[in-house]
Amino acid sequence: MSPPASAAARDRLRIAIQKSGRLADPARSLLAACGLSWRESRDRLFCYGETLPVDLLLVRDDDIPGLIADGVCDLGVVGRNVLLEQDGDRRGNGRAPAFREWRALGFGGCRLSIAVPDAWQWQGPQDLSGKRIATSYPALLSQWLAQQGIDAQVVLLSGSVEIAPRLGQAEAICDLVSSGATLSANQLKAVQTLVESEAVLAGPVDKFDDVRGELADLLLRRLDGALRVRNSKLLMFQAPRDLLAELLPLLPDAEQPTVMRLDDGDDVALQALCHGAVTWQRLEELKRAGARGLMVLPVEGMLA
Ligand code: AMP
Repeated sequence: MSPPASAAARDRLRIAIQKSGRLADPARSLLAACGLSWRESRDRLFCYGETLPVDLLLVRDDDIPGLIADGVCDLGVVGRNVLLEQDGDRRGNGRAPAFREWRALGFGGCRLSIAVPDAWQWQGPQDLSGKRIATSYPALLSQWLAQQGIDAQVVLLSGSVEIAPRLGQAEAICDLVSSGATLSANQLKAVQTLVESEAVLAGPVDKFDDVRGELADLLLRRLDGALRVRNSKLLMFQAPRDLLAELLPLLPDAEQPTVMRLDDGDDVALQALCHGAVTWQRLEELKRAGARGLMVLPVEGMLA
């Protein structure tokens, strides 16, 4: 089993995801939560969609925007940082946009930030005038420097950017930061965010005008449902009807709860989709306020 060679007139949707790395497992789990399952090729680079005609191509994440631009893949899961950098690079070279963000996916969060040595008394972006800044994101950095009206030198490095100041290659860096642990280990501090990034579903600029359009719409509907309930729980309990006024304020992050009257008098059963954490503490508060038979259930999908 191998992918068809040509991109033209496909009746299956092909999604590129990272083969290995931070985004690989969450991307696959999210697509699996949309009801997709696959059979893997022997080289484990291509996964044939079994439940829907939606196949996966497992690649390096940096390759994903280009694969979409070339029509080799229809969609891709990639960091916004990679997508914006490659879009900026294309625009900088006078080429038309060839991909865009279709959905933010809520994982792989990080920031593209300027970081400087701990000892630097940072006053603001103008501090960077005349300095060298090491980065693997030259397009985004140059764009930001131009917007700020700062004349600085962009030093392109493909990796280990955080050691550039210690090696004397640059005075500052522009790199991805999530926890900040790598920066502090290198005596650097983040001082300015350029891009708030997370994993996104990327696709072509225009919609598909063949059967892939229907498949993409179906996938997006399922994705929206899966994303909406990702951190949600269904909370169910019973309570005397006259206590509802005290119980409902304890569910501030719940969608319009469903209240059902029970046959035997003044009690009601309530179910609510809660988008925040439903902690033991919360359950105990509800119990103290008169709720009983409290149950918390996982939610796997939602179709609005
Ligand atoms: P990697 O698996 O290291 O190639 O990273 C893939 C993607 O994960 C990056 O392009 C970012 O979108 C995202 N990411 C999230 N946190 C970080 C981080 N601390 N460093 C690098 N990438 C990160």
